[in-house]
Amino acid sequence: MSDIEVTIDGKTVHGKPGQTILQVAEAHGIHIPTLCHHPRLPVSGACRVCVVDVGRPDRLEAACSTPIQDGMTITTNSPRVRRSRRMTVALLLARAPVDAAPPEPPPPNAVRDLARDLGLDLDRLPFPPAGPRKPVDASSPVIVHDPNKCILCGRCISACNEVQNHRVLNLQHRGSRTVVIAGLGQLLLDSGCVSCGECVQLCPTGALTEKLPPEKERWWDRDPVTTTCPYCGVGCTLDLYVADGTIVNVRGNEAGVENRGSLCVKGRFGYDYVTSPDRLRTPLRRRGDHFEAIGWDDALQLAADKFMELKRTYGPDALAGLASAKCTNEENYLFQKLVRTCFGTNNVDHCARLCHAPTVVGLGHAFGSGAMTNSIHELLDADVILVTGSNTTENHPIIAMYMLQAVHTHSAQLLVADPRKIRLVDHAALWLNHRSGTDVALFNGLMHVILEDHAFDHAFIAARCENFDAFAASVKPYTPDVVAAITGVPAETIREAARLYASADKAAIVFSMGITQHTTGTDNVLALANLALLTGNVGRASTGVNPLRGHNNVQGACDVGALPDVYPGYQRVTDDGVRKRFEDAWGVALSPHVGLTETEIVDAASTGQIKGLYIMGENPLMSSPNLNHVKAALQRLDFLVVQDIFLSETAQVADLVLPGVSFAEKNGTFTNTARRIQRVRQAIPPLGASRPDWQILCHLAERMGYSMTYPTADAVMDEIARVTPIYGGVSYDRLEGAGLQWPCPDHHHPGTPYLHKDRFSRGKAVFTPVAYTPPAELPDAEYPYLLSTGRLLQHFHTGTLTRRVAALRTLVPECLVELNAQDMTDLKLADGDLVQVSSRRGALVAKVKQSEASPPGLVFIPFHFHEAPANCLTNDALDAQSKIPEFKVAAVRIEKLPVEAGDT
Ligand code: SF4
Ligand code: SF4
Repeated sequence: MSDIEVTIDGKTVHGKPGQTILQVAEAHGIHIPTLCHHPRLPVSGACRVCVVDVGRPDRLEAACSTPIQDGMTITTNSPRVRRSRRMTVALLLARAPVDAAPPEPPPPNAVRDLARDLGLDLDRLPFPPAGPRKPVDASSPVIVHDPNKCILCGRCISACNEVQNHRVLNLQHRGSRTVVIAGLGQLLLDSGCVSCGECVQLCPTGALTEKLPPEKERWWDRDPVTTTCPYCGVGCTLDLYVADGTIVNVRGNEAGVENRGSLCVKGRFGYDYVTSPDRLRTPLRRRGDHFEAIGWDDALQLAADKFMELKRTYGPDALAGLASAKCTNEENYLFQKLVRTCFGTNNVDHCARLCHAPTVVGLGHAFGSGAMTNSIHELLDADVILVTGSNTTENHPIIAMYMLQAVHTHSAQLLVADPRKIRLVDHAALWLNHRSGTDVALFNGLMHVILEDHAFDHAFIAARCENFDAFAASVKPYTPDVVAAITGVPAETIREAARLYASADKAAIVFSMGITQHTTGTDNVLALANLALLTGNVGRASTGVNPLRGHNNVQGACDVGALPDVYPGYQRVTDDGVRKRFEDAWGVALSPHVGLTETEIVDAASTGQIKGLYIMGENPLMSSPNLNHVKAALQRLDFLVVQDIFLSETAQVADLVLPGVSFAEKNGTFTNTARRIQRVRQAIPPLGASRPDWQILCHLAERMGYSMTYPTADAVMDEIARVTPIYGGVSYDRLEGAGLQWPCPDHHHPGTPYLHKDRFSRGKAVFTPVAYTPPAELPDAEYPYLLSTGRLLQHFHTGTLTRRVAALRTLVPECLVELNAQDMTDLKLADGDLVQVSSRRGALVAKVKQSEASPPGLVFIPFHFHEAPANCLTNDALDAQSKIPEFKVAAVRIEKLPVEAGDT
């Protein structure tokens, strides 16, 4: 398309057909003021502040909504334009008056700023304030809504309805009585608001603001530090505002590549924990049943002496380390390096074992790489999105936001396969509510229909895949009727879903721990890989098999070698050539034996085989299955060191506790679920005597006689790049802005948005026949209910961080056991009643609540609450291939306790 030539303020410029006057002016550095306009929102043209003169005597045009035309002459700042803008702004100020003498610096208010730019005298406005003051809604623990500051620009409504798709905000009444309301006119707290704060971020006048205590106000007076969210694997870019060593506010960075300014409630409001009074500020040594504070010299010497003594006495394989999916890449790299060089063992693992080990094994086997195949934003252009085993709105809210935008703005079809009626089901074209643990049967059933219909991609399979015939034979028995009997999904729905998925030009599969946390976790992943291969939905944009990783840096911890069988970059410890390269790089002989996994380390501790354990930033006494077994195992150790920022449940049983720092106190990188390596930047100094974890690791290695000296965290990344081919082109200067998606093998490589474009990492992809096998434990007469565990939007993982954030605690203060209405009736329960839930491994006590999400017979318990630790119930039966425990299926009994609702 040829360019269009226009003249703006006497300057000849060019734009593309369809571009607005505002877009072309901004592209050429010509400022036109706006209020209702925001680049992330649909154009509304409501406020008319952006009017410009295009030479029509009868009217001015709104620059935000008027397309350029060839030869157009535009004047953006004539006396006529300024008169019109002054009138508009004066009317807005009558509706929403501003303080003529605000405190310095004044709080953000685009109308006041515009009035000043236009030369309006705020003390002598032409129109008096209109109407009586309206009540302020401060019901939410995180947001204040003051309608007296509202100019009805509609940005908050678009933000809520079209960006985040929560559909909470709306307009009520007409004319001068018009107001923005939540829900049907309720308080924000009761309206279904999920506290994402998108409306706050996009409100130009402060009518919607963060609810901040006085000491945290005036955040706008500070320069932000741009960094990466410490919670989930989406990797949203945050701007931290800091005063006196404290984070006083957080905003989504509008240039953030994954979030484009949006955040969820945790990323935006979940930062109090950083400076919590509970933070560990000094090393602690156990003395009997209590801890005493000691200095760093004593702590590091004690750790080094004890680990070396155990190594001398019992051999290197009596030691082990658990790295951290919350710590940076640099820290995880140094941690596994310390375990491999100083301990002399490959017994190093981390919580990926408990979430996505089957993904690494399954996708590694099928495609040659165990990572998310595509990029997050590509979901916007998918025709069909199959979401399975992922409660995305709760666990990866910003990815859920893109899914809903794909459905409501881009006409994608959503196919949800989940035993629970999760929120996404409300937006889905089809819901496959299969029984827990029947995933392989369901996916084989879909593929049976696709094969029967001849709707598979013959050319793709012939050119790029192996083992098709054996696979095709393996799904033959899975007719829709057979699968319906196993899964409970009607045969016709299975056919419909198969045809919907197969008919898409671009179909993306998204999955998470509902798929992986099973004794058949690897088979489940392999079945999904088969489905994508069968229809040629891999190796192209907006397709693929996309595991959503739970922690901020679980992907990175795997990438840099915090795994027992591979060095950084998934290079096998058993490969003599690879091992020799690492021996040369690190200057020591390395163990040729595959180490123990996290679950095996716990078992080995319980039998006395592991004597010394170093845990960095993990809390297995909340996150592992069968907690009573884990506790007994840790208590049997000769020496346990826990490095953390809080005295977690695990730290409480340690012999030595080393205080690390939060994400806000150090430099480094996280790698998100889409393989994007992003910067983490220090915003505040370490609290007390705590130290950045990477420095603690270097100091400890020195004491153990191995030199690990780096001047800064970026020097660690330079070493990672030297020994890790997929990170070969990564350096801090190249990570400015959008970061880089691996593989990025050299300094000229731009990174890789989607994998397997012309060639799979293993050459050809391989189909793998997988057969349905039931879960390890199913309900019976003694334990008649099926337990599923998971996360809530407002809390994260073991609750160590989010339960120390006042606002998040207020939003969700306690564990609630979720039960179906039928089960509540059968058990004679009402909301708030206390129940004991028990399995063959333990018991907990909590209140119940009725939930539409759970089908009859299925009980859901979040695992964030130490008072009711769901993992004392879960089953530690393992998937044979990946060693992940079966968190998602366990048999439990529920008994009402003799305390009525409200009495506790
Ligand atoms: S916080 Fe989010 S959900 Fe709540 S009203 Fe604002 S945009 Fe809507
Ligand atoms: S979606 Fe994830 S990364 Fe983004 S703000 Fe929320 S918790 Fe942080």
